[in-house]
Amino acid sequence: MRISPHHLFTTEITFTLILFLLKDTVIAQQEGASVSSGSNVGGKSYNCDPNTCQVSKDCLCASKNPPNNLLPQDTPQFVTITFDDSVQPTLIETAYDLLNVTFASMQYTDFSLVQEWYSAGHEVADHTFTHVGNPSESEITSCRTMLNSYSGIPNGKIQGFRAPFLNFTSSTLNSLKKLGFTYDSSASAIPDDAYWPYTLDHGMANNCWSGICDIQIPGLWEIPMYAVPDATGIPQLMDVYMAGSPEDVSKWSTAAFDNHYNGGRQPFGIYIHPTHLTAYPGLPDPKPKLDGLISFIKSIASKQDVWFVTNQQLLQWMKNPVKVSELKDQDYLKCQQPVINKEICNGLDDNGNGQIDEELTNNCNFGATTFKTCFNCPGTAPTLDNPTPASSVQNGTAGYRYPIPDNCDTQWWDPVQNTCLCTSSDCQYKDTALPFSTTGSGGKDGSESSASVSSIAQSTAYIALATSMYAWL
Ligand SMILES: [Zn+2]
Repeated sequence: MRISPHHLFTTEITFTLILFLLKDTVIAQQEGASVSSGSNVGGKSYNCDPNTCQVSKDCLCASKNPPNNLLPQDTPQFVTITFDDSVQPTLIETAYDLLNVTFASMQYTDFSLVQEWYSAGHEVADHTFTHVGNPSESEITSCRTMLNSYSGIPNGKIQGFRAPFLNFTSSTLNSLKKLGFTYDSSASAIPDDAYWPYTLDHGMANNCWSGICDIQIPGLWEIPMYAVPDATGIPQLMDVYMAGSPEDVSKWSTAAFDNHYNGGRQPFGIYIHPTHLTAYPGLPDPKPKLDGLISFIKSIASKQDVWFVTNQQLLQWMKNPVKVSELKDQDYLKCQQPVINKEICNGLDDNGNGQIDEELTNNCNFGATTFKTCFNCPGTAPTLDNPTPASSVQNGTAGYRYPIPDNCDTQWWDPVQNTCLCTSSDCQYKDTALPFSTTGSGGKDGSESSASVSSIAQSTAYIALATSMYAWL
């Protein structure tokens, strides 16, 4: 996607690996169901005093107005796109199609794909190991551990969580806090409670029907998922394109987006299960739905002050809200790729020969299924209780891959040489931002100033690992 300085397109990706396609579809439909309306069922009300709950104290009250008393017209219109569930070649191709990014080849699967996605500038978040609702702590930690061990994503960069089936309880949220996550994004918001992200210090302002309104979890953020009301007013949350014709869905989505854009500029979300938009033999051609979605994304991207961001970028802005005119100067919104002159196993085409990590990934075989990784293959198939079994290759012997340390990022880590190629602030980056051609008023100056501005499609993926693992067993 070509983007102007005024239109940063960031996607965040969370990967959940799903058992097999049919099951994947079932899960996706369940997660994509329309949401119940009414956020304060049972007479409970949300109480939060903005005079005491302040961002400087890691606290923010739920509100439909922009933070920091910003006027809506000075506030960026953020859009997040998230992809849930498995990371498989065809699905990730669909995701890249959506971002209108041409991706040369998709020969890798599983963890190396996740690494490629992350290294391309997207976010990866936790969606449990076996894709279960109301998950145990080990469901949450085993997913994070595997993303770290086999995709080389630093633990500190895996900050978000989405509950499978959006089925969470107070115990889920308390676990997230205990395990060091920054945010949850499982609560649904209808137009009445379409709040900006907020912390759970004074309770959950959405989803009160589920009995979790009175939780108090200081500092844990909730990024609500914003619903799109259909023609009858029923809020559609995920995979809105499944609920009607492309024309109707586009109409509903545009109206919902305009409510945010012309209202309190609350973020807008597009929540996708790529499996619905991927062609499978014997199933209806999803292309009309995919085309409709791409055209909707292009239409909102052409509006002034619209920025596509990851959830992590959104929260960085929430912690220090600046006017839209200052966004392009924020380091965390820049689109940069490292300059590395030799191919290392980091999910990128470092030497520019059109291939990613050629001859550097390991193939891990467990019965019928295999996955690729830049890191050591486990000696046995991962399980919930033992997500990262010891490798048969010993530290210091030929072929050993060194795990990423917490003080290096994936793009810079050479797991073969045990080296972080960037250890200071003067590492060399290239700007991957592209000018966005638009008829909107914001696009005119794009070509002259785009060199100094970074903007590119970025998104967040919510990954559940285990279903795929089941497929291996
Ligand atoms: Zn899911």
